[in-house]
Order: sequence, then C-alpha cells, then structure tokens
Amino acid sequence: MLRLTDLRLPLGHADDALRPALLTRLGLPEHRLRAFQVFKRAHDARKKGAIQLIYTVDLEVDDEAAVLARWRGDPHVRPAPDMHYRPVAHFERAAQAASPRPVVVGFGPCGLFAALILAQMGLRPLVLERGKAVRERTQDTWGLWRRGELQPESNVQFGEGGAGTFSDGKLWSQISDPRHLTRKVLDEFVRAGAPAEILFVSKPHIGTFRLVGMVEKMRADIEALGGEIRFQARVIDLQIEAGAVRGLTLASGETLRAHQVVLALGHSARDTFEMLHRRGVAMQAKPFSIGFRIEHPQGLIDRARFGPSAGHPVLGAADYKLVHHASNSRAVYSFCMCPGGTVVAATSEVGRVVTNGMSQYSRNERNANAGIVVGISPDDYRQGPGAPGSPVSPLDGMAFQRFWESRAYELGGGAYRAPGQRVGDFLARRPSLSFGAVEPSYKPGVTPTDLAAPGHESLPVYALDAIREALPAFERQIAGFSMGDAVLTGVETRTSSPLRIPRGKDGQSLNVRGLYPAGEGAGYAGGIMSAAVDGIEVAEALAVNLLAKAT
Ligand SMILES: Cc1cc2nc3c(=O)[nH]c(=O)nc-3n(C[C@H](O)[C@H](O)[C@H](O)COP(=O)(O)OP(=O)(O)OC[C@H]3O[C@@H](n4cnc5c(N)ncnc54)[C@H](O)[C@@H]3O)c2cc1C
Repeated sequence: MLRLTDLRLPLGHADDALRPALLTRLGLPEHRLRAFQVFKRAHDARKKGAIQLIYTVDLEVDDEAAVLARWRGDPHVRPAPDMHYRPVAHFERAAQAASPRPVVVGFGPCGLFAALILAQMGLRPLVLERGKAVRERTQDTWGLWRRGELQPESNVQFGEGGAGTFSDGKLWSQISDPRHLTRKVLDEFVRAGAPAEILFVSKPHIGTFRLVGMVEKMRADIEALGGEIRFQARVIDLQIEAGAVRGLTLASGETLRAHQVVLALGHSARDTFEMLHRRGVAMQAKPFSIGFRIEHPQGLIDRARFGPSAGHPVLGAADYKLVHHASNSRAVYSFCMCPGGTVVAATSEVGRVVTNGMSQYSRNERNANAGIVVGISPDDYRQGPGAPGSPVSPLDGMAFQRFWESRAYELGGGAYRAPGQRVGDFLARRPSLSFGAVEPSYKPGVTPTDLAAPGHESLPVYALDAIREALPAFERQIAGFSMGDAVLTGVETRTSSPLRIPRGKDGQSLNVRGLYPAGEGAGYAGGIMSAAVDGIEVAEALAVNLLAKAT
C-alpha cells in the first residue's frame, strides 16, 4: 500500500475528481491503480476565494516498488505505515497472573480504554465509577441545566463516559503517536457507532448525542469479554501495605482486594485527590488555565474563516485557534472551541459555577463558543486566596479553582446562574445591564454584571487585564471577534488538572506499587483522544508488569 500526501483539489470539486487527480499526480496509466481510500481530508482556507481540500490517500497500485522508485526523494509518496493495533505479546500469561482482577477507577475515556484493552487481553477488569450509567446521568445533568438542581455525584464531570460525554466530542490531539494508537481509538469508536468519517476528516468530532450511545456499546463490549462495571461505586480510600496497593474502600463501606489499580479519575475528583494526598501518594502542583467562555454568532466566525464559501457543507461550521502574549507576560488562548454549540454548566460541587462547551454532531446552534483562558502556574497559588505566602502544596491549585468558582456563583446571583458581560462593556470597564444581539446559551441562565468590578473580580486582576488586551488583538485575526454584543460568561477553571500524580516508566506511581495514575486527572492527558491513548498505554504497562511477575 502506498500513501500519497498533500494532494490538493479545489473546494467543490466533482465527486469523481479524485481518481484522475491521483493518476495525474503519480503519472500512472488507468489500469495500474487498483484501489484507493482517503486516509485524511483537511482544508486550506488561507485564500478565502480559493479554498483547497488537501487529501492524504492510500493506494493499491500494480508494481508498487516501481512507483516508489520513480518517486524516490518525493516526501509526499511513501509506503503506507502499518497502523494495526498489536496487543502486548503473550498477554494470555498476564491474564493468568491477574488475581485479584485489575481495578479501573473511573469510566471516562481513559478508564474506558484501559478497561477495554485489559478486557481484550483477557484480564477481566473491574471498573468502579462514582456516577450513574449514561442515560440516568443525562437526566441528572439536564436537571442542573433546566432547573438549577445539581446532583454532586451525577453531572457533567461524573458518570459513565466521564467528562467528555456532554461535549463537542472533538477527537484530535497533538500527542506524538508513533504506534498509531489514535487509530485504534478511532476504530473502536466507529465500531461503537461513530460516523465512519471520523477516520478521515482532519478534525473529527462526534457530538454529545452520539457519544451517549457509543459509551453504552463499549460498556457492553467490555462486559462481553468478562469485565464488570459498577456504577455509583465511589472509591473513598486506599489500603497501602509496604509501599504496594492492597485494597480499596467504597463509599458504601465495602472493601475490595486490589493489587493493580488504574486511577483514571479526571480533573474534578477533588475529594479523591485529598484522600490520595492523605495516604501519601506522590503528587505535584501543576500549571493550568482559567478564564471565560466567549460567544459569537457562528455566521460571523464562518464568514471570517471561509469568506464567500461560508456555509459550504464540506467545510461545516468554522472553528478557530487564537493565542496572544499579553504585556503582563501572560499567555491568553482560545480553548476547546465549540462551533455551533452551547456553553454548559459544568460544576460538580454545590455553590460553585464552572463553564465549558458542547455541541451536537450537526453543530447547527446559533452561537460559536470557546474558552478564552489565561495560563497560570503554581507560583500564582501562593499569591492566590488558597495559600497566601505559604509553600505550594499539590492541593493549592484546587483551592484556587474553588475560590473563583464560588465567586462566580455569588456573582451569578445563585441557583447556578453564571455571571456574564457584553464584550463592549468589559472593554469599556462598565457593567452590563442586559445582553444584545448575542443571546448567551448557558443554562440555567446568565446574569448580566461586571466581571471585573473592583473588589468583586470574577478572576485575578492579571487574568482580566490579559484578556482585555487579547480581545482586540484577536479582532485582527477574526473580524468581529471583539464585537460589543459578544458575550463573556464566567468562569472556566477546569481546563486541565491542577496537579500531577507522577508515575515511572513502568506506569506505576513513584511511591505506591500497583497504582497506575492515568488520564487527565493525573496530568497525563488533555482531551478525549489523549486520555483514551493514555488508558491504552497504562493497560499495556499493567499487563507487562504482570507478565514480568509471572515469569
Ligand atoms: C463539557 C466538556 C466538553 C469537553 N469537550 C471536549 C472535546 O470536545 N474534545 C476533547 O478532546 N475533550 C473535551 N473535554 C475534555 C475531556 O472530556 C477530558 O479531557 C476527558 O474526558 C478526560 O478523560 P479522563 O478519562 O482522564 O477523565 P474523565 O473523563 O474526567 O473521567 C473520570 C471519571 O472518573 C470518575 N471518578 C472520579 N473519582 C472517582 C472515584 N473516587 N471513584 C470512582 N470513580 C471516580 C468520574 O466520575 C469520571 O467519570 C470536554 C470536557 C467537558 C467537561
């Protein structure tokens, strides 16, 4: 199989234009091209009047060696890499040594893929998930959005599918992936019901509605392979003996023997982080980002990105990625942009407000939204309300997040309403009394206010200053970005984990054998795809360690 990259065709090309373009590009006669398949499709919209589609195509040709020889030195013609997933060699022996069965704590993308791989290797994992199965969880989540009723154990952060279930389902990642594990993830998602196009579009996304069904299907696959998934099973304690994990305690009081535990907790398991810290598990404070969600009309973003081709079905709703280095040395950047989506209430704690974004597969809601966030480092915690003047503790980032989430709750006026402001008012330093052409989408509602009122700021002053400087700078890249009626909704605090639970090369915690910190909560992932890949790698590491013990 050959792989040809960077084949460019104009947007709107005929359906059958690809085959002749391939023949021309490779100088092949018709009969030598046996078959081809699009591996990736991206677009280049730098020239808005002449947008191009960029294809990567896998081809079967007669006499492949001759074609490769002819194009030797051309970086765009190569043998296609073998992307088939291969499990750990001799994993059957690891399965025999797996007693008691491995436990996976958390059933988000990381825990789900760790459990799937363990199950596929015959290790029959037990999954413990604090939240509910996805259908019940969906009802609880809507309870917050529609009625302002938060269920602290069943919400956007906690429950089957993890934090990514009510999301845009964006599936791209910038992780280095020499083993093509992202392909394994995409293949499993398609088997579970994701649209096949995620295998070839350059920025695939699934949307909330489909994710729900896929998560259920993957759960059934794990169970069919001998795994077990228990919901409303919150881990509240860990038994450690002589530096090795020996068991777990659940909130119900039940204790379980466990010698291999994958900790796939996500970034919001604050009570569990506190427990791990008490038990002496090695942890470190780490940087993360905080800010607001911004909303614009999606049509404005489409026109700025695609010009006269805005609305073309192949391009879909436009996205953006923006960065500004502010004069106070803070980096401001767009985060988790959701084209044609909504801003969602994403808190898991009583009396706190947290924003995030989601969309459906169609991405056809009126507004575009994205986080506009500012990078902060553990040094900021010392200056922050969590621990003024004291040394940085691994839990200080959490205290810092909680402070600003509680402030947002107050500013929103209670009942999980979020504080918001028109961009024009934010830039002019005056409170908003109402919203204009852009209606904020966050539910249960947004209270117009002053996000930067002296003494009642919704974020640290350095973050407000950096965002105030960044918005006009972003206007230079997207005309209309700083339009007066665009809406800022606060606060976005859970962009990534505030701490890291470090692990060694063998995947185990630095000071507790048998404990495998993984995914976003442990600081090893920053999105659905990277969390899923980390889950695969940690499951493999666990099997390799079992094999080493068995031999
Ligand atoms: C609204 C929203 C939209 C997002 N959109 C995207 C997107 O479009 N693309 C993208 O790549 N990323 C997105 N993300 C981020 C993405 O969801 C996360 O990066 C990803 O889910 C992290 O996976 P994880 O498995 O490491 O952790 P999580 O998904 O957070 O899963 C952790 C699980 O552990 C469980 N748990 C925690 N503590 C315990 C305990 N003590 N006992 C038992 N179970 C426990 C939790 O209930 C949870 O289900 C979004 C996040 C949110 C909130």
